[in-house]
Amino acid sequence: MNKMETIVSLAKRRGFIYPGSEIYGGLAGTWDYGPLGVLLKNNIKKSWRKKFILAREDIFGLDSSILLNSKVWGASGHLKNFSDKLVECKKCHKRFRTDRLDSKVCPGCGGGLTGEKQFNTMFKTFIGASEDSASQIYLRPETAQGMFVNFKNIVDSFHPKLPFGIAQIGKAFRNEITPGDFIFRTREFEQMEIEYFIRAQEWEKWFEYWSKQMREWIMEIGVSVQNIFEREVEEGDRAHYSKRTIDIDYNFPFGKEELCGLAYRTDFDLKAHGLDYYDEETKENFIPHVIEPTFGIERIILALLCDDYNEDEMNGERRTVLRLKPEIAPIKAAVFPLLKNKPELVKKAREVYETIKKRIQPIIFDDNGNIGKRYRRQDEIGTPWCVTVDFQTLDDNTATVRDRDTGKQERVDIKEILAYFQERLN
Ligand code: ATP
Repeated sequence: MNKMETIVSLAKRRGFIYPGSEIYGGLAGTWDYGPLGVLLKNNIKKSWRKKFILAREDIFGLDSSILLNSKVWGASGHLKNFSDKLVECKKCHKRFRTDRLDSKVCPGCGGGLTGEKQFNTMFKTFIGASEDSASQIYLRPETAQGMFVNFKNIVDSFHPKLPFGIAQIGKAFRNEITPGDFIFRTREFEQMEIEYFIRAQEWEKWFEYWSKQMREWIMEIGVSVQNIFEREVEEGDRAHYSKRTIDIDYNFPFGKEELCGLAYRTDFDLKAHGLDYYDEETKENFIPHVIEPTFGIERIILALLCDDYNEDEMNGERRTVLRLKPEIAPIKAAVFPLLKNKPELVKKAREVYETIKKRIQPIIFDDNGNIGKRYRRQDEIGTPWCVTVDFQTLDDNTATVRDRDTGKQERVDIKEILAYFQERLN
């Protein structure tokens, strides 16, 4: 198995990510998040919200609808421009994005290709009981427009002074021509986006500022700096609204590809929606410009899995370990009784488990198999600490805490155990 296959297999086996609609043969470009996947995703969102919304005074959170009035997409230019160029194989009728195709013939069957066509990647659906052109709407392909159309609402409720931002996390949908590479390119995914409103003359300063902030957060959650590359997106490859874009690429096993992006959207969107801003100080109306940092959660998850997946040897045994940062790891700790068939150990271990669980969640209780196996199971899902209750615990009220990365064990007084974890989680 290559690295990607190993990760896909681990993700499925241990309950992180399952193929969508699997029992019916699947549905291309869709994945379902299992219990550990949900926890991982939520920890990433929590870290993002904390840094970019909660810890700041100038960014306002939002959760706007996935379904929007079609006029939004007319004004924003998505109806006309949100398309990929594709070619079709004349023989097997598979379609390919021209910007991602190296050969002049079909990579699948070697057949000849048609000329290039534009393909709008917004998903269409209908609203209400009739299915005609008047009731046709689109699933949002980006969360950004929900923030632009609420610009005036935020200004009226909170009276923010420039610069300020609106941020949201939410689903986006794109009818990708060729989804693939596990969760890298899917048809339904989640974005974490910020629209940061500024004065036009300050755009370069804020662009630099946000590119630093993005890198900072990516590293804070544990993506290693040597796998990140900043790339200037050339004019012809930029979205229709952008005057400057940089992509932050990650060195995935299948190549260096976009992890997240930063765009200078100018005043394109607010102007298109006829929205402006009244500056109390200068008593002027004008249209703010926008810097947009955008992250895809799936790609962050994939980068973390690729970065943190390791196979090494510990105490003479091969093991798989996910070296996720404790804040990001789905399970924070596991508690074991040394032996399953000693009721006094099991009872004490249960007590310890309940004590920790009151403050630190989620944690796991496991008494299956021998201790070595239990450690391996936790290492594989990235649990940072394992607590073992043994016979000495019954005498002196201390338990061993074993560190995932070093394998070192130390005895900690159970009275101190909550503080021990809290200190290491912050
Ligand atoms: P690509 O060039 O890879 O198609 P894009 O430039 O169209 O991506 P953006 O429009 O900049 O992507 O979207 C912002 C972010 O949303 C991306 O940086 C990425 O993390 C995420 N994203 C975009 N499309 C997908 C997708 N199909 N599946 C998963 N994540 C995606």
